[in-house]
Amino acid sequence: MDQRTPPDLHSDMVAAARAVSLSAGQRAQAEDRDDGFPAADVADLVRLGLLAAPIPSDLGGSGLGEEPGAWKLADVLRLVGYGSLALGRLYEGHVNALQLIAQYGDLGQRARLFADAGAGHLFGVWNTEPPGGGVVIEDCGDGSRLGGVKTFASGSGFVTRALVTGRSPGGETLMLVVPLPAGARADLSAWRAHGMRASATGTLDFNGLALLPDAVLGNPDDYFRQPVFSSGAWRFTAVQLGGIEAVFDVWRAHLVGTGREADPHQLARLGEGAIAVEGARQWVARAAAMATDGMLAPERVVAFVNLARLAVEKAGLDVLQLAQRSVGLQGFLRTHPLERLTRDLATYLRQPAPDRALTGAAAEILRTRAMAGDLWSGVAV
Ligand SMILES: Cc1cc2nc3c(=O)[nH]c(=O)nc-3n(C[C@H](O)[C@H](O)[C@H](O)COP(=O)(O)OP(=O)(O)OC[C@H]3O[C@@H](n4cnc5c(N)ncnc54)[C@H](O)[C@@H]3O)c2cc1C
Repeated sequence: MDQRTPPDLHSDMVAAARAVSLSAGQRAQAEDRDDGFPAADVADLVRLGLLAAPIPSDLGGSGLGEEPGAWKLADVLRLVGYGSLALGRLYEGHVNALQLIAQYGDLGQRARLFADAGAGHLFGVWNTEPPGGGVVIEDCGDGSRLGGVKTFASGSGFVTRALVTGRSPGGETLMLVVPLPAGARADLSAWRAHGMRASATGTLDFNGLALLPDAVLGNPDDYFRQPVFSSGAWRFTAVQLGGIEAVFDVWRAHLVGTGREADPHQLARLGEGAIAVEGARQWVARAAAMATDGMLAPERVVAFVNLARLAVEKAGLDVLQLAQRSVGLQGFLRTHPLERLTRDLATYLRQPAPDRALTGAAAEILRTRAMAGDLWSGVAV
C-alpha cells in the first residue's frame, strides 16, 4: 500500500486524496454504525482543498476532472473509495453536483454555488424516490413550494446543498439546487444496511420548503440528457475500484500474516484476484477517458460506460468471493478488517438497472456494422 504523506497537499490533488484515504481508512471502522457519518473525513476534504477542487478552472478553481481522460479525478475517486467507500460515495455525489452546475448553471448560479462549495458546503445529487412519490413543485399564491421526499439520499442531514430532481406542475422534470440546514428534515431510520452504514443514506423530507427563484438549473429534462446522464456512471466505478483494491490488499496481507502465501490454491486465487483488479482498473480508465474526451458518438459512449459498470461489478463480485474463500471464517468476524470492507463493497456494487445497462450496450453493438476492434475507436459506423 503506497500511502505516503506528500510534501505539499494543496498543490497535488492526488496526493491530497492519498492523505484523506489513509486517515479515512483508519476511522472507517468506528463510523460503521447505523448513525455513522465520516464527518472528520469530510472536514479533511475541505481542509485539503478536495471539496473545492472540481470548481472549473475558468472560474478560479482547480478544475479537477478537466485533465485529459479525467485521469486525476479517476485516481482521486479511487483513492478516497480505497480509504472509505462511504466517504467515496459522498464525494462522488459532491463532484457530480458540481459538474452538473458547471454544465447547466447560468453565470449567477455558478458563481453563487461554487462559492458555497469553496466555503465547505457538501453537495449531493438525489434522484431516487419512492414508487409513485418523489419531489413535486407546487404553485402557491405566494410563490412555489416543494412537496414530497427523496429516498436513498446519501449524506441526508449532512448535505447542505442538494441537487434534486422534481416534477413541475406541468409534469416536466426539473433540476433544483436546494439549500438545506444541517441536521434537519433527514430520516435515517430505514437505513439499517448490510454495508455503507456511514453514508447516511436516508429519506429527506422537502414538504413545505419554499422554492427560491434561482433554484432551477438548466431546462426541463436536462438531468436525463445523454450521454452525460449515463456516462457519468464512470465516476462510481472509480470509487468501487478503490473498494475492490482495499479488499484485495487486506486479503493479501492476511495470507502473508498467517503464513499461507505459499499454498498453490491460495496463490491461484490471488492470481485470479489480481487479474480482476487490473481488469477493473483498465475499464475505469477507459470509461473515464471516453466519457470526457468527446471522441465517440453519445450512444457509443453510453454503451461503453454501461459495459464498464458491469465489468467492474463482476470484478468486485469475483474479488469478494475469492477473498472470502481464501481467508475463510476469520474474514466474517467483526474483528477482522475484511468483514466491514466486504459488506461495504457488496452494498455499493448495487447500482440502478444493471440488466438494462448490459442489454442496452449489447443492442448498441448489434446496431453497428463496425468490426469488433473498431467499436470503441472512433472510426466505427
Ligand atoms: C450506499 C448507497 C448510496 C446511495 N445514494 C444515493 C443518492 O445519494 N442519490 C440517489 O439518487 N440514489 C442513491 N442511491 C440509490 C442508487 O442510485 C440506486 O437507486 C440503487 O443503488 C439501486 O439499486 P437496486 O439494486 O435496488 O437497483 P434496481 O435498479 O432496482 O435493480 C435491482 C434488480 O432489478 C432489476 N430491475 C431494475 N428495473 C427493473 C424492472 N423495471 N423490471 C424488472 N427488473 C428490474 C435490475 O436489473 C437488478 O437486477 C444509493 C445507493 C447506495 C447503495
